[in-house]
Amino acid sequence: MSVIGIDFGSESCYVAVAKAGGIETIANDYSLRATPSCIAFSGKNRILGVAAKNQQVTNMKNTVYGLKRLLGRKFRDPHVQKELKILPYNAIETANGNIGIKVNYLGEEHVFSPEQCLAMLITKLKDDSMHALQTPINDCVISVPSYFTNNERKALLDSAAIAGLNVLRLFNETTATALSYGIYKQDLPAPEEKPRNVIFVDCGHSALQVFACAYHKGKLRMLATASDPNFGGRDIDLILAEYFCKEFQTKYKIDARTNARAFTRLLAEVEKIKKQMSANQTTLPLNIECFMEDKDVHGTVKRADMEELCAHLFEKVEVTLASCLEKSGLQVDDIHSVEIVGGSTRIPAIKQRIEKVFQRTPSTTLNQDESVSRGCALQCA
Ligand code: ATP
Repeated sequence: MSVIGIDFGSESCYVAVAKAGGIETIANDYSLRATPSCIAFSGKNRILGVAAKNQQVTNMKNTVYGLKRLLGRKFRDPHVQKELKILPYNAIETANGNIGIKVNYLGEEHVFSPEQCLAMLITKLKDDSMHALQTPINDCVISVPSYFTNNERKALLDSAAIAGLNVLRLFNETTATALSYGIYKQDLPAPEEKPRNVIFVDCGHSALQVFACAYHKGKLRMLATASDPNFGGRDIDLILAEYFCKEFQTKYKIDARTNARAFTRLLAEVEKIKKQMSANQTTLPLNIECFMEDKDVHGTVKRADMEELCAHLFEKVEVTLASCLEKSGLQVDDIHSVEIVGGSTRIPAIKQRIEKVFQRTPSTTLNQDESVSRGCALQCA
């Protein structure tokens, strides 16, 4: 019997397990380490993870994602209303004021709660793990953002319970990353010495978390955390998509904002370009065939354009970084290193802001995508 550590991300999930003295990331049914946080329904079956993401464009109304930001909240919560505006599936208010996700499943209309949908995804993570490890799994440790409220935490526990998993602990993503860093370090200071102060910056798809930790051998102390639950890679995707929508309106007289399918395809393409931009300063092409009204569309964008369009977002990142530094009471000279994790910390403009605030080149000692799941698995070991 094994205990698994789950990183529940807003774009994708990772599962890790402590095995043979080390930590192993579990691959899914597509032999991939990341499982998209995506659940879809069809006339015949339920589709989960990679397969759900792959069919999203052709089954928009019945493909559910973005659950991390809906869990444990009421339908009328302004935050939920804002999220629902950018999600293509239908959501209704249930009799008790909760969120009901309306989908067509097995030829009938069904209304599921976000917790039920997430339970389906957790079941998939559990099944893939049992398959990979060839052992039953009953227990897990799941990560939660440090800014999650009690209601959000409770909703996640409900989902795990529906999936038949006993949660040994909900582990803050920040602590999981800090543990991943500290556990194998042989050169941490002795208890009587000055601590090693490390800043961590975790920027994912929908949120930014910054935290400062003080390490001694066998001990870590969280000094401060600052977060921006409203900034992540998806905000850049939305701005780039908006940029192309305007360009296509002038160039081709089509408005992708009026067509959910076209807009979803555009979002997927701009996310790819955004990743290319992280390694490339040249002008990058965007081509989509049969985009709308049988028209093929073409456009270009470069890193400098994105940085200009998103300058206000990067300002916000700087404010959060500076807030963590201030709360920690550390001077920049007291900082040993700044470790970056989460997909969006690959963006050069974010790295530049980190360098500006902490006067250090960020390091990538940790596995940028898997530090949270590894930390959760370590907690189970
Ligand atoms: P969250 O932490 O908000 O719950 P998550 O854990 O699912 O989300 P991550 O997997 O850490 O998020 O990061 C995904 C985000 O990182 C996406 O927005 C993705 O586009 C972005 N990303 C991944 N690689 C790159 C890259 N090379 N350049 C820019 N952005 C990237």
